[in-house]
Amino acid sequence: MFLGHIAVGLAGKRGVPTVSLATWLTSVQLVDMLWPIFLLAGLEHVRIAPGITRFTPLDFYDYPITHSLVGSAAWAVVFGAGCLLVYRDVRIAVLLAAGVMSHWVLDVISHRPDMPVLPRGPYIGLGLWNSVPATLVVELTMFAIGLMLYVRSGRAGRRRASFWLLMAFVLVAYFAAAFGPPPPNVSVLAWSGLIGWLLVPWAWLADREKTGSN
Ligand SMILES: [Zn+2]
Repeated sequence: MFLGHIAVGLAGKRGVPTVSLATWLTSVQLVDMLWPIFLLAGLEHVRIAPGITRFTPLDFYDYPITHSLVGSAAWAVVFGAGCLLVYRDVRIAVLLAAGVMSHWVLDVISHRPDMPVLPRGPYIGLGLWNSVPATLVVELTMFAIGLMLYVRSGRAGRRRASFWLLMAFVLVAYFAAAFGPPPPNVSVLAWSGLIGWLLVPWAWLADREKTGSN
């Protein structure tokens, strides 16, 4: 649920404007940012199986470290602790840790029952991805709401080309993954997944309050 996660990040930014959008996007996407690294390290596994759901050709059969409920909770604690050190504010740290957990909840909504509660199951998933129209309606609605919340917050980013280019990039990446051909192999998938890290410096530049160029 890529756009749905981004939407939560945009909404989080509205809720806690003192935290950069870069930090918010890292929070909501943390486990998906770590996932390609664990794939490349051979610690988690995925299969390319066109038809497994209507929306994605990926069979997520083994990702206990990044995508189990307990794994996500552990990452949330680590991320929240780091944020507590940086921001020295318990409320902010808890909200950013909740952002990490929101990823798991939204993934449960979209995935088929492949989301582990404990590292080796039980597995749950509501299967939104079994319907392309339903997936698009839910995610695009969430994204539109998140974007509206950000724009109405009066952040400098709403006037910056870099912010709108970031939003355009997110949409293009989403539609390319949804409607483009399946990745040729897991290695290409994992390496291209690392592009997600690019959003962090990009969001930081787009969202900073200092006036200046784009
Ligand atoms: Zn995920």
